[in-house]
Amino acid sequence: MSDSVLQPVTSFPALGALPLARATSDRRCESRAQEDWLDSLRAAERTRYLVMIGGRARVLDGELVLMPAADLPEGGTEIYLGFDGSTEIVLHSFEQTPAAWAAPGSADELHPGQWLGLRDVAAGLGARDAGLFVEAVAIANWNHATNFCAGCGGPLTLRASGWVKFCAAEGREHFPRTDPAIIVAITDDADRLLLGANKAWGGTRFSTLAGFVDPGESLEAAVIREVAEESGVIVKNPRYMGSQPWPFPRSLMLGFTAIATGTELFPDGEEIIDLRWFTREELADAVRTGEIGVPAGVSIASALIENWFGGVLPQPEHLEN
Ligand SMILES: [Zn+2]
Repeated sequence: MSDSVLQPVTSFPALGALPLARATSDRRCESRAQEDWLDSLRAAERTRYLVMIGGRARVLDGELVLMPAADLPEGGTEIYLGFDGSTEIVLHSFEQTPAAWAAPGSADELHPGQWLGLRDVAAGLGARDAGLFVEAVAIANWNHATNFCAGCGGPLTLRASGWVKFCAAEGREHFPRTDPAIIVAITDDADRLLLGANKAWGGTRFSTLAGFVDPGESLEAAVIREVAEESGVIVKNPRYMGSQPWPFPRSLMLGFTAIATGTELFPDGEEIIDLRWFTREELADAVRTGEIGVPAGVSIASALIENWFGGVLPQPEHLEN
């Protein structure tokens, strides 16, 4: 692993280094704005390319596979990612498998490794690679989805090494967007945790409440509004806990805690179909017996729940055998 330019962020208020928020590479925003930046990197010895196909990247022995320009297939969208202290790293993103790699016996088979998605592998990657992968997925999502000008409907061309799209007809620049979303661990006077079951999860998976920030709304107001809408609970004292990007397709999850002013629960019935208060013992038992599932892996929901719980939640018993 190369020396990193930036230190991992260690100033999260309470949640520590979240799996998708450990980036260490320098995005070199001034350099990437230069018109010939990607061309000059093509010719440079120290440039390596991350190939991503439909949001999946190749991983070998717990590291992203980076390749020289000579090994790249034709086509794809090229976007600058960053400098890790010794290597310039550029994304080469395809929405679908490039023709050169589609046929059996193609060049793809000469490169070992497994094609994996960000959520599958992020927790097992080092900080540099986790940061590069989350950046790659986020900027690729925007790039592949933004093909026409929102002002005039005209075609857009890439600029700034993939970080700006330009409408020549209007001389207008379009920049990548991120949608802020709050997610909140609510506790009552007895320090019980409120979790809800989303209709989309089948009714037995419980998690912290979450929602997008409205236009013109503060984060704190969004916490209070979302919780009231989904549970009928009025909360006070929203406290920021940490954040991580969640590029599925383009969210930034902002974690909070908040205190409930009452305990009566009114699930909205649309999004949230069940709500429960849990003591630590009740939650551990419900998870252990398989009565409910809770978020695991790289989500900030998991970090918020375990921060309240005071450690790692038990595994369901049927998995221990
Ligand atoms: Zn336009």
